[in-house]
Amino acid sequence: MKLFDVYPINNISIVKARGSYIWDDQGLQYLDMYGGHAVISIGHTHPHFVKRITDQLNKVAFYSNSVIIPIQQELAEKLGKVSGKEDYRLFLCNSGAEANENAMKLASFHTGRKKIIAFRKSFHGRTSLAVAATDNPVIVAPVNQTDNIIFLPFNDETSLEACFRAQGKEIAAVIIEGIQGVGGINVAKESFLQKIRTLCTEHESVFIADSVQCGYGRSGKFFSHDYADVDADIYSLAKGMGNGFPVAGIVIAPHLQPKHGMLGTTFGGNPLACAAALAVLEVIESEQLMRNAKTVGDYLQSELKKISVLQNVRGKGLMIGFDVPEELKDLRKNLLFNQHVFTGEAKPNTIRLLPSLALSKKDADEFLESIREEIHNMVSTSNLVDQT
Ligand code: PLP
Repeated sequence: MKLFDVYPINNISIVKARGSYIWDDQGLQYLDMYGGHAVISIGHTHPHFVKRITDQLNKVAFYSNSVIIPIQQELAEKLGKVSGKEDYRLFLCNSGAEANENAMKLASFHTGRKKIIAFRKSFHGRTSLAVAATDNPVIVAPVNQTDNIIFLPFNDETSLEACFRAQGKEIAAVIIEGIQGVGGINVAKESFLQKIRTLCTEHESVFIADSVQCGYGRSGKFFSHDYADVDADIYSLAKGMGNGFPVAGIVIAPHLQPKHGMLGTTFGGNPLACAAALAVLEVIESEQLMRNAKTVGDYLQSELKKISVLQNVRGKGLMIGFDVPEELKDLRKNLLFNQHVFTGEAKPNTIRLLPSLALSKKDADEFLESIREEIHNMVSTSNLVDQT
């Protein structure tokens, strides 16, 4: 059997990973500024993470949600403490799309309504409602097309107000990434998030904060939406939650009441996933990784802003984007193959940095050195002026 070919793939096979570094089968070492798409939160193969999962594996790997699984409660308590949402409740599942799917479904059950507001350039996943709320028609199959999603311009308070004025009674939820990831590292304005909060409260709609990519401390706060000092009704979580172990969840405000049968899953909340997620939170706390994300992220941004060929350096914490001019369109590829540095992209010309939250200043300096050198090499063969 062959694999179903759905990804453009780099011809690299990774055999070892540690902290912010990975090694291929030729023994080449790479600096990981991509974190396997924002997934590596505490660093590859962190010893506490490995031990926690191994210990759990030796006790019990799986039983269904028909019995008490104490480690789920342990995780919920720890997550409440680290995120500051101690009075919220946790529903566990397996991926970001599933988290958003459940969040929107719950909002619809709660309000009895059908319409969801999403924003231009959003990405919420590839399952039915999540992909319908994603602003990319190419990945929406005919069966996923629905009139229930209303797309509005990002950060546009006037359109949002007009939409609520016209259809407020039909709006089940507003779903928004605090920082759009796949869309190109677009930071939601604090005033925009505050406006969503006010309008959702006024119209009894549900505010869903998609924190799959921008959450879990990546922005320097647990939820990037926290910068606006607002509480969402539901936060969706995945990626950094398990540092590579598939685990996801939604964190639900106390006024949203559960009913049996409303949500469910076979694998969600399995003991191994909970052990992984607990290990991540323990390390975020003990190594003060949110503070590190802010410090090292601020440093990276200020140094990148000094490289004047890079445009619109933006983001928060260790979720950073910048645009490259046409002449440097191969920069990301060259960083990978010449400098051995992994970075992410967003079409058409954005490079995204999504490294481990444990990235050190030394690692950041190594990256800065590599990008300066690569730009220098590239501009000396183009007609751009060397401004590195
Ligand atoms: N939401 C956001 C903001 C994402 O960036 C992603 C994935 O990139 C998802 C949801 C979907 O997550 P998953 O791929 O785990 O289903």
